[in-house]
Amino acid sequence: MCYFSLCSIWVICILPSKSKIMTKYIGAHVSTQGGVENAPLNASAIGATAFALFTKNQRQWFSKPLEQSSIDAFKANCAKYGYTAKQILPHDSYLINLGNPDAEGLQKSRDSFIDEMNRCAQLGLDRLNFHPGSHLKQISEDECLALISESINIALEKTSGVTAVIENTAGQGTNLGFTFEQIAQIISKVDDKSRVGVCIDTCHAYAAGYDIKTPEGFERTWRKFDEVIGFQYLRGMHLNDTMKGHASRVDRHQSIGTGFLGENAFKMIMADSRFDGIPLVLETPDESLWPDEINKLKSWIPAQ
Ligand SMILES: [Zn+2]
Ligand SMILES: [Zn+2]
Repeated sequence: MCYFSLCSIWVICILPSKSKIMTKYIGAHVSTQGGVENAPLNASAIGATAFALFTKNQRQWFSKPLEQSSIDAFKANCAKYGYTAKQILPHDSYLINLGNPDAEGLQKSRDSFIDEMNRCAQLGLDRLNFHPGSHLKQISEDECLALISESINIALEKTSGVTAVIENTAGQGTNLGFTFEQIAQIISKVDDKSRVGVCIDTCHAYAAGYDIKTPEGFERTWRKFDEVIGFQYLRGMHLNDTMKGHASRVDRHQSIGTGFLGENAFKMIMADSRFDGIPLVLETPDESLWPDEINKLKSWIPAQ
């Protein structure tokens, strides 16, 4: 066989994967009861093509290290049920506040966050979703945002292979990250921009005042997102309807189609290729509805 034909075979082999149609990965934040290795099983059982998980008890600062057997089983189960890193969005502990004005609390948060980043790396995962932080009325918003950037810089320097994914918040209490500008401000001070990303929670966005319910509002919001932050940073989405109204600044999730957002907001997301190729994760309150919600979301993806 001449060199030319070998070369042609190579070209033919790589072309389809390069021009591959992107897809929607849809799932839910599943339980890890009995070990992290159970998450891919639980995701597969509800028909999910994406999932979120806690890699440790989310109500504790630190947990015992992951057992090697658990890491191996997690990887084996992900391979068996068809989940790759780009379909998985781990969530960090609720205790962590990377913008904590209190020095001791900040140190504990940073140590715990680094531990969580390392746990993700051990599991072969490439991103960690977290809530940016709260100023607790003790420092200014700008000071808190700067602390969060500094925390991300420290974590990125001490770990490798995992992207820190900032989740937008509803703006409840003193939580920051409820405007695209605040998230952009955090990113602007991160040194390694290749390892910082964003996760948009639909409930939080609507509660924070972004209208993603009407077609005009949806277009306006995402145009603004692209201008202020940029779609290149989008590493995941949380698909939640909301129990509270527009700009309520209250974080209460609701099952898809039964809250203030309604089905239309999610139909627009499913029909939009800008949300392809990233984990789209339900955090809705009634787990028994997850298989139906996933089916419904999948049915709203237009035929390609
Ligand atoms: Zn969250
Ligand atoms: Zn969320």
